[in-house]
Amino acid sequence: MGSIAAIVAEIAEEMRGHEHRGKVADYIPPLACVPDSKFGMAVVLHDGTVHVAGDADEPFSIQSISKVFALTLALGAVGDQLWARVGREPSGSAFNSIVQLETEHGIPRNPFINAGAIVVCDVLLGRLQPREAIGQMLRFVRMVAGHEGIVIDEAVARAEQDTGFRNMALANYMRAFGNVHAPVELVLGTYFHFCALSMSCRQLALAGRYLMDDGRTEGHSVISARRARRINALMMSCGHYDNSGDFAYRIGLPGKSGVGGGILAVAPGIASIAVWSPGLNPSGNSHLGQLALERLVHRTGWSVFEPR
Ligand code: GLU
Repeated sequence: MGSIAAIVAEIAEEMRGHEHRGKVADYIPPLACVPDSKFGMAVVLHDGTVHVAGDADEPFSIQSISKVFALTLALGAVGDQLWARVGREPSGSAFNSIVQLETEHGIPRNPFINAGAIVVCDVLLGRLQPREAIGQMLRFVRMVAGHEGIVIDEAVARAEQDTGFRNMALANYMRAFGNVHAPVELVLGTYFHFCALSMSCRQLALAGRYLMDDGRTEGHSVISARRARRINALMMSCGHYDNSGDFAYRIGLPGKSGVGGGILAVAPGIASIAVWSPGLNPSGNSHLGQLALERLVHRTGWSVFEPR
């Protein structure tokens, strides 16, 4: 194996010239205007060394990657009681699907599809006002990333709000089943602000350290080791919507994607990795991001299925 720095630089170079880049999300203008030529990658190793390449310091909309941080906060607030309201099974359907909610009595399949993340937000609002929940999220990501400059892009949050009819349908439908308690507009306002978090690959990979290191960041405990392992298990089985099985098959790492084109992936005990390329595959996952991770794992042997 070559040095990690060389592998990261090599992959970024390969992705720069790649012709098949997927399709940039166009449901809101702030995402539609991001050039598909962007590619960034950051790898934080267990010893704290950081390797970056391409547009790794350019902030982008992390979108559904925020669902990992929201889950972490909700588990911190109510512990395993959360699982009475959200399942832990892969959905096999699209990120914004409503179909399973009818047969499953308003209980979303997992916390990483939209319906699940909306319930997670509602759980946070059981104890906090929306402004406090958004403040708690910002403090959390700034703390785990060690970057005070992380912000929420208000233009993205507003655009999500203006076009979020499906999310409104999901929230109202779950409210009808009694699985959303707070007023729907407050739950969605919180959810949209979480989606609008803006972070660079470097910041995201740093933020993922607690998942890489059994709940610790720079030696300090953020969550318990058991909880970190369980969040990783959910990322492995449910982190890529109806493409989760394929991601596990090709890459073999816990990961979570967002429609902004970012992916956070975790090689437990080894590295926290973030990639960003805005062009998406038909399931809404970064096309080149997945390809880059596939090559990284192939060249480093970091798949969790590789015998240590
Ligand atoms: N804001 C998007 C939505 O709720 C997030 C989707 C995603 O990143 O998968 O539709």
